[in-house]
Amino acid sequence: AAAGSASAIKQVKLEKESELRIEVGHETPLRIRLVSGTAEIFGTEMPPEIWLSFPPRHKFAVFTWYGATIDMDGDTETDYTADETPMVSYVNVHAILDARRNRAKASASDSESPQGPRVIVVGPTDSGKSTLTRMLLSWAAKQGWKPTFVDLDIGQGSITIPGCISATPIELPIDPVEGVPLEMPLVYFFGHVTPSNNVELYKVLVKELAHTLERQFSGNAESRAAGMVINTMGWIEGVGYELLQHAIDTFKANVVLVLGQEKLFSMLKKDVLKINPNVDVVKLQRSGGVVSRNPKFRQKFRSLRTREYFYGLTNDLSPHANIANFSDLFIYRIGGGPQAPHSALPIGAKPVADPLRLAPVNINRDLLHVVLAVSFATEPDQIVSSNVAGFIYVTEVDIQRKKVTYLAPSPGELPGKFLVMGTLTWLET
Ligand code: ATP
Repeated sequence: AAAGSASAIKQVKLEKESELRIEVGHETPLRIRLVSGTAEIFGTEMPPEIWLSFPPRHKFAVFTWYGATIDMDGDTETDYTADETPMVSYVNVHAILDARRNRAKASASDSESPQGPRVIVVGPTDSGKSTLTRMLLSWAAKQGWKPTFVDLDIGQGSITIPGCISATPIELPIDPVEGVPLEMPLVYFFGHVTPSNNVELYKVLVKELAHTLERQFSGNAESRAAGMVINTMGWIEGVGYELLQHAIDTFKANVVLVLGQEKLFSMLKKDVLKINPNVDVVKLQRSGGVVSRNPKFRQKFRSLRTREYFYGLTNDLSPHANIANFSDLFIYRIGGGPQAPHSALPIGAKPVADPLRLAPVNINRDLLHVVLAVSFATEPDQIVSSNVAGFIYVTEVDIQRKKVTYLAPSPGELPGKFLVMGTLTWLET
């Protein structure tokens, strides 16, 4: 609404330790502002008196520790006040983590820089994992730490487009509207939105990401002391559970926060402590404010994330359309094909798919609407283990002229020669 429609403004008074839960309407953005008192949005303090604009369908809460008055201007799907929240238990976790960071920093010596907390947040879908991760990072950043945010959620990640696992240092409390700054994250491209497409590859990429971070930490006592907060997927049964254990192990997590599920908590407690008795496995309550999202919403969210990569959150970026000859593109797919030709196998043996096999992709119409990653690899055999510079989106395949048109975030030559293809597609709307 325009500034003139003052009549539409609704004022909400929040008592201490309560929150205003909002789902923005489906059509137009919602503006809110802090009129008095103090309040935060998922760990980041609201600036006084300044209107913040949230996009349609955005779901969030304004929490106050000491009381606040909030103005709302625009349509909401729902908005209500809740005074029962798990925030006190969350901030207590933060206080413990903070003490550990201080201890790590204080005991740093020339030879060995001690490790701050490595926190991993686990739980079923829609238990508030991403939100808790965000709060812990923002509270730490407010205190002057630069913790590393690791996002292993290939479906609903917060750092880059779907289908990736990634990490980035958090230097300032996370902006409630813009989210995590997209500058220079460390990104590995899995290429699918569910790990079951290639569990082996997922594990390899988790390992690569962990090793790269470990290398970075070894030269940086400050970020080592600040530690990391790792967000995970909501898949917690069967292979999903195995992948959680794999992540805890690979990142050497020393704090496991289990959100909202007794069974997962007791299973992890038993299995994790068996391997390393020094890990703290902590059960935390799910917030009643967490909104469940159905598969259709998740799909829509993924599409929006991809759109945001190319066009920016508010259409503030303009991607460039480029044209390339078929012969100039080197596209690879990881996994899938048979490992050895039939003839090379012992009689009776079935060919097994090698999950890490690299196969060149023939360019045809199947490439249309595919999102490809631009690998940093300089040789094909590095592709599986390399991180990626960014993404391109195929908008046209001209078979006759043997030319591909694609969108890239910036003009000019791509930052790498090799492209990686998964099952990730996007329909520009
Ligand atoms: P996933 O299943 O994708 O891993 P998750 O467990 O990470 O989900 P979140 O993304 O943290 O869950 O939360 C789900 C949705 O609920 C998000 O849109 C988030 O902004 C919203 N949400 C979380 N906490 C609150 C709250 N207290 N009040 C209002 N909305 C909230």
